[in-house]
Amino acid sequence: MVNFELSKNDKTVLDALRSESLIARKYARQYDENEHEFPPDELPEAKDHPNFMSHMATRGAEDSGGSVMMTLIAMGSTWGDYSVRLRRRDSGLGNSALKAAGTPEQIEKWGGLTLAMAITEPGCGSDPSQVRTTATLDGDNWVINGEKIFVTTGCRADGVVVWATLDRSAGRAGIKSFLVEKGAPGFIVAHKEKKLGIRADDTAAYVFEDCRIPRSNLLGGKEEIPKGGSGGFKGVMKTFNMTRPLVAGLGLGMAEAALDFTREELSRAGIDIAYDVQGTTQSAAAAKFIELESAFEAAKLTMLRASWLADKGETNNIEASVSKAKAGGAVRDITQGCIEILGPMGISRAHLLEKWFRDVRITDIYEGTGEIQRMIIARGLLDYTRKELN
Ligand SMILES: Cc1cc2nc3c(=O)[nH]c(=O)nc-3n(C[C@H](O)[C@H](O)[C@H](O)COP(=O)(O)OP(=O)(O)OC[C@H]3O[C@@H](n4cnc5c(N)ncnc54)[C@H](O)[C@@H]3O)c2cc1C
Repeated sequence: MVNFELSKNDKTVLDALRSESLIARKYARQYDENEHEFPPDELPEAKDHPNFMSHMATRGAEDSGGSVMMTLIAMGSTWGDYSVRLRRRDSGLGNSALKAAGTPEQIEKWGGLTLAMAITEPGCGSDPSQVRTTATLDGDNWVINGEKIFVTTGCRADGVVVWATLDRSAGRAGIKSFLVEKGAPGFIVAHKEKKLGIRADDTAAYVFEDCRIPRSNLLGGKEEIPKGGSGGFKGVMKTFNMTRPLVAGLGLGMAEAALDFTREELSRAGIDIAYDVQGTTQSAAAAKFIELESAFEAAKLTMLRASWLADKGETNNIEASVSKAKAGGAVRDITQGCIEILGPMGISRAHLLEKWFRDVRITDIYEGTGEIQRMIIARGLLDYTRKELN
């Protein structure tokens, strides 16, 4: 039976998160307008707030599933502000990759670091099998050469999981992931990217120039290129089944903030939203608002279902893509719809709605664009191979 009921403990934590999130919101405009600045790890007013990652580590059997809770934490954090959301250590995308591909010794060694993940390159994003960054064995070192762009948490992370190919002619099977720590010779953080939205979020560009790392930094430790098949590539791609519902949650948190703001402003203008009458018999603004709310609820349900399957240990690759594709479109329509309802107030920089509209745009881009999610869903439902549908 599908059940998204939360434990009392989890509800208390999510309530506390909302109040922490409001602190982040106070700083939202400052870091949006000063893109070159980095928000601090801990905002001064939030230093006594509970660490939600520690909470995740100490939850008991009576609590809700871990993936469901993580998506709700993601939503609760960005409801305050995406970019100034209180970043906690150990929670980069690279940490998920390390867990998915590392040996127990590697997880023990680097699990306490904040790790970014660098796949995308100037000529490769949607199809990660086109990675051009190379890794060549030289004695007891790997030598890495190439460029990576749009690396989330890239400036501030302690290290990064880098995808590189041992042999381009081997295709997917030749791609391996490597742990490169900051300070490795030849590892250059080139710049912080300038963006339309999530502007305080740390997105970096990297250059690897004969970057030398120890031989033991190959994640999983398997140096040979398997004949046929895709080697470890498929395994690392599975990381996305965990992170795509989370990305949906990050977007939905901002969409919920936009809905809450719009509801309050409508109420201030004397427009009440009635759920028990037909759309045609109430104000057009209220009827449109209800449509936006239902888009939000539908997207939230797909997100919860994908995470719930993960908690049960069931395959969720189609559902993870559905949740990401659905949320990507919904959050864009919701924030745009809220602007249409509120008119000039929606685009005024006196309020955060115009910022949420810009910030949610990323939901449909990173971790695979909406088009790519729809292709994955179609392949899964119609039983096509990657070659048959690409
Ligand atoms: C703020 C931000 C943070 C990011 N963080 C990270 C990160 O931490 N690590 C990382 O490795 N990457 C990261 N990315 C990169 C992101 O994952 C890529 O931008 C995304 O996957 C798209 O790849 P691309 O930019 O190469 O676009 P392209 O692949 O060139 O796509 C361009 C357009 O073509 C469409 N398209 C491509 N192929 C197909 C197809 N087969 N069928 C239909 N349409 C198609 C796409 O949907 C898109 O609309 C980040 C990006 C941004 C903007």
